[in-house]
Amino acid sequence: MQDNNDDKKELEQVDADIIDESSDKEDTKENSSNDKSKDNNNTGYEDVCFICRRPESKTGKMYHLPNNINICEDCMHKTMDQVSQFDYNGMLNNGNIPGLSFINLSDLQGQGGIPNKQKVKKKDKAKKSEPAIKKVPAPHLIKASLDEYVIGQEHAKKVISVAVYNHYKRVITGSMDDIEIDKSNILLIGPTGCGKTYLVKTLARILDVPLAIADATSLTEAGYIGDDIESVISKLLMATNNDVEKAESGIVFIDEIDKIAKKTNTTSRDVSGESVQQGMLKLLEGADIEVPVGATSKNAMVPLTTVNTRNILFICGGAFPELKDIIKRRVNKETSIGYSAELPDKDEKEGSILSQVKNEDLRKFGMIPEFLGRLPVVCTMESLDRDMLIQILKEPKNAILKQYKKLLDLDEVDLEFDDGALEAIAEKAVKQDTGARALRSIIEEFMLDIMYEIPKDDNIGRVTITRDYIEGKGGPIIDIRNSSATDPAKIAGPSKND
Ligand code: ADP
Repeated sequence: MQDNNDDKKELEQVDADIIDESSDKEDTKENSSNDKSKDNNNTGYEDVCFICRRPESKTGKMYHLPNNINICEDCMHKTMDQVSQFDYNGMLNNGNIPGLSFINLSDLQGQGGIPNKQKVKKKDKAKKSEPAIKKVPAPHLIKASLDEYVIGQEHAKKVISVAVYNHYKRVITGSMDDIEIDKSNILLIGPTGCGKTYLVKTLARILDVPLAIADATSLTEAGYIGDDIESVISKLLMATNNDVEKAESGIVFIDEIDKIAKKTNTTSRDVSGESVQQGMLKLLEGADIEVPVGATSKNAMVPLTTVNTRNILFICGGAFPELKDIIKRRVNKETSIGYSAELPDKDEKEGSILSQVKNEDLRKFGMIPEFLGRLPVVCTMESLDRDMLIQILKEPKNAILKQYKKLLDLDEVDLEFDDGALEAIAEKAVKQDTGARALRSIIEEFMLDIMYEIPKDDNIGRVTITRDYIEGKGGPIIDIRNSSATDPAKIAGPSKND
């Protein structure tokens, strides 16, 4: 009997030890999940609720579960309510639950929890919300910086410098007084390859603001196949590493804007034309937009955040191919009924016809008046002629010829282009009619042989590219180090059949 009692006591002691141990384990588990939440706090990214996908700034306090799973208070309560209504008795009576299996939540997410790509940067609460851009250079300084990279397009550079200066002045001053300055979104019109995208890219680099480049052709009305309109803001957010404050004073360039002109002769719903223009209105004007983070469309698995587009500068660009004819027709009509407008010359450059563009021409093209009203600065760019193309080859800070020169410099070979060669390249590019874009492909074609052959021979000191070489009639002039021997036959020109 005594023995029996002793055994019982021993068993009780063991049970108590087990309970102690398991509570210890739970403690350490809790600690580790606390540590994780501390880690999360240090990353600078907001936690996102695993169930409703809203960020911490929206939901308030989060429960941090193991495997980086965070659940907001609302969702936790809802879950608890559902659990409390669950029919445990039925479950216990049957002994098992048909059709129900338990899911390990972390399996759904991967071990790392929500990737940073889908998290939003925390707002610094101590800091008063002020624009990310502090100081903006005066228009003449902006233009001077643009001049270093962008050749020609003097008028466009001037218009853009002033518009951007005004825009950021407006952003910096905010709403200090009653007079609110209107937004100066820009519409850039110019033929393909004339430097629209390049101008905007250079601008964003000079001002050191985030830039997103989107293509209007892929945009469709929400719910249809294609990218939602908000996706352009998602791209800007991505460019800033999901920092909403920075994104709110960035630049969005929407290319191919002419492709969302109203479709004529269509009986179906115009989901990629007029509807997209309609959808973009509030974006251009300035509104709080719910955007998916780290994705281009809203769905249940993507967290959302709110971005205010009031201070985002929108620049829309397009070639508007038939616009020239619309302008010509209007101008001709005005002259024929006695207005004093100048009749455009037949050989007049495309640029100068485009520069006479009026709102009504763009409306005829298919842009809706509300959309045009939100792009108050209209700026046209000229097509590039032969001389401008030659300049583009050699003058900009990162000119394509300078890049090749540098590459060969590393092999201690001097690369020269004579004037005839530059003219020949520019003439070929003009024929292709794709603006400066053609230059690189033309140069790559004949530089391939040079870049392949030259490093073979250490004696080569200088290579001079000539018109004959470009036109496939001969080879480049090769100068041997410490002598001036020439051997034009050494490198064959590009094949003549182009
Ligand atoms: P698009 O008007 O079609 O947007 P891009 O801006 O993409 O044309 O121009 C293509 C390339 O041509 C640019 O990357 C740039 O290198 C060159 N380029 C075009 N226009 C100019 C210019 N005015 N000055 C210097 N480079 C230019």
